[in-house]
Amino acid sequence: MWPSELTGVLLTHRHSDHAGNARWLREKFGVPVFAHRADAEILEGIRPRPVMERGEGSFVAGLLAKVENRWPARVPVDRALDDGDSVGSLEVHWTPGHTEGSVFYRHVHTRALLSGDTLLTAVPPLVYRAGLALPYPTFTGDMARAYESIRAFQSRAACRGHTRDVAYDHLLPGHGRPLWNDARARIVDFLREQGIVAANSRV
Ligand SMILES: [Zn+2]
Repeated sequence: MWPSELTGVLLTHRHSDHAGNARWLREKFGVPVFAHRADAEILEGIRPRPVMERGEGSFVAGLLAKVENRWPARVPVDRALDDGDSVGSLEVHWTPGHTEGSVFYRHVHTRALLSGDTLLTAVPPLVYRAGLALPYPTFTGDMARAYESIRAFQSRAACRGHTRDVAYDHLLPGHGRPLWNDARARIVDFLREQGIVAANSRV
């Protein structure tokens, strides 16, 4: 497949390690760019971009935060997305916290969840590990909001019939290896271990 055959670049969020090539694909091959409205405004420079602080993060994370602050991704967004939108077979679920406009995309036919940096299977930037990981604090604007987004998404998944069906089997995170099969049950166990969802709650 050639880049010009792409029908769109769907951004999970605005950080440059995810959005950095979008401008190149758009300018060179005319590929339209999609992002949630809240991140689109920052990618287009309409709203100011929050500055990343190292905080309690590692030395390497601090360096990467400096790089992000110095060279943030900038790209015109052809379609600003909202929670509940669909793009082809992908549903948009707004999960703010890591960034203002972070989203999950759920691929309806394969029941795969693309989680960006809001649910990971590696601790960024480079350390791979076997298990699941929450958003990395240095790179995350609002941890409490990210946790709330994850919790809300999981509980929506629990009440099928009341809201949209958000069940999924596979996780395709922004960093780390895919989690194939039974991903939701493993993620719920992980969230219980982390205290993100209560041990006895029905999710
Ligand atoms: Zn990120």
